[in-house]
Amino acid sequence: MRGLVATARTQGQRDNDFDFCVEGELVWIGLVCARDEADPDGGCGCGRAFSGLNSHRATTTARVAELAGFTGDDYVEALRSGLAQAGWPPNLAGELAGDMLAIAAHWPAGTVIERRLDQFQARGAT
Ligand SMILES: [Zn+2]
Repeated sequence: MRGLVATARTQGQRDNDFDFCVEGELVWIGLVCARDEADPDGGCGCGRAFSGLNSHRATTTARVAELAGFTGDDYVEALRSGLAQAGWPPNLAGELAGDMLAIAAHWPAGTVIERRLDQFQARGAT
């Protein structure tokens, strides 16, 4: 199965890129605050960011990755523990896993994607 992981690849394509995650960690997408909700280039950054499940930091670039040996249950469990560690309700994990896997399923493994609020798009190779 494919999932989304943090990557530094293509960082810098946008002036306001950032990457504080650990390369290759699973990411999820959190809620967007008032500063960014109408503008993915808002002052906060959460409207264009993916959140690292382990580092609890953020990146503007995610890579579609083949998760060898991972099952859907593993993915939900990874989300559940990451959410719990970050102080989010872990019962969001099931729905979130479905959303994340649906996004990852749009592109082949290796594709770097970015986020503009609720829109996701592939970045060109650099
Ligand atoms: Zn924000």
